[in-house]
Amino acid sequence: MHDVLVIGGGIVGQVTAIKLAETGARVVIVDAAQNSGSTANAGSLHVQMQSRFMRLYPDQVRNIEASLPFYVAAVQEWGLLDQKYGSFELVRKGGLMLAEDEGQMAFLEKKMEREARHGVSVELLDRSALDRIAPWLGPQIIGAELCRDEGKLNPLAANKRLRAAAETLGIEHRTDQILRLESLPDSVEAIGLQGRYRADRMVVAAAWGAGALTHDLGVTIPSRAEPLHMNITEACETQINHLVQHAERSITLKQFATGQIVIGGGWAARDRGRYEIPAVDHASILGNVALAAQLVPSISGIRVIRTWAGMNTTADGASIIGPLPGHARVVMAVPGDAGYTLGPLVAGLAVDCVQGSGLAAEALSFSPARFAA
Ligand SMILES: Cc1cc2nc3c(=O)[nH]c(=O)nc-3n(C[C@H](O)[C@H](O)[C@H](O)COP(=O)(O)OP(=O)(O)OC[C@H]3O[C@@H](n4cnc5c(N)ncnc54)[C@H](O)[C@@H]3O)c2cc1C
Repeated sequence: MHDVLVIGGGIVGQVTAIKLAETGARVVIVDAAQNSGSTANAGSLHVQMQSRFMRLYPDQVRNIEASLPFYVAAVQEWGLLDQKYGSFELVRKGGLMLAEDEGQMAFLEKKMEREARHGVSVELLDRSALDRIAPWLGPQIIGAELCRDEGKLNPLAANKRLRAAAETLGIEHRTDQILRLESLPDSVEAIGLQGRYRADRMVVAAAWGAGALTHDLGVTIPSRAEPLHMNITEACETQINHLVQHAERSITLKQFATGQIVIGGGWAARDRGRYEIPAVDHASILGNVALAAQLVPSISGIRVIRTWAGMNTTADGASIIGPLPGHARVVMAVPGDAGYTLGPLVAGLAVDCVQGSGLAAEALSFSPARFAA
């Protein structure tokens, strides 16, 4: 029997397992090997509230806003992880959210005031200030919000190095789809398509799959799968240091160390069920890259070399961390919006719960108790 069974091997499950194994715990990760957001994501380290999210999920904005200090801490956590296991090609030069008219500037100004109240480092830049740091922007951009806490990394590098660290620590990886969980007086058990897995404690880091697993244990977690689209270009000469977003339109744009531009930001992909990779939608390729070329005209001549679709997870905007009500051996670890950014920090808090220290005071609002009947 293992000390800890981790269900889900994305960024949260992997870092949880590493942190536990470093303290001597015997850990097994069981993962369905389907639709991990962590292997499909864009590597943006988000802090400021994303305009896309505010438009799509207005009911969840309150939770996102309350989580802002957590995002600042999450990016710092990535910095520590990068020092220990990197390089992840992590760059923290800040993120720009662009405006094309006075209405968008007014939106950014209000948003910025709210963010500053939560300790986020934000300021408004006019066009001349932008020209000094981002001269490649299209002429229609009149200003932007700059969030100095934001950054970017290469998730391919981060995932590969973390997986290698996990293997060095002797963490076992199994591929299986877990169908249900059992919470026993002296242990926990997960029943999968291929086998049964018993451990002293369990961490549920199954993102979009979390709700289905906890339902039978009496807690309905509203985790939903959201299929999203991404593109990457060939390398180009334009040098883009910042993470780039827009005040009203869905886009994230950034450059890897290779010179390639990664373009995404929430364009839809076609859902084919939770255990099938979503299909790329042609309208999303065209719409997403056309918008990128408008914002950064100098990249309009370069070629997109790959597009893909992946599964994001949404619930109520906030992370879900801590023991499941009535089942102290089952610890939840599901990040809120921008879950790759939050992943390592969520993992650390979940580890505290597994080790019996409980949920840190500043994270109590993330407890799954909010979903208990
Ligand atoms: C296209 C795209 C771009 C994104 N870009 C960014 C970004 O730039 N920055 C950012 O911060 N976030 C981004 N995200 C979000 C981010 O990738 C996810 O929120 C994050 O990776 C979630 O990590 P996780 O470890 O919680 O879950 P995941 O990485 O999604 O892993 C969950 C794992 O659980 C497994 N699982 C689920 N149910 C079961 C079950 N019943 N049995 C066994 N295994 C199960 C799945 O197979 C999966 O491997 C993006 C997401 C997508 C899809």
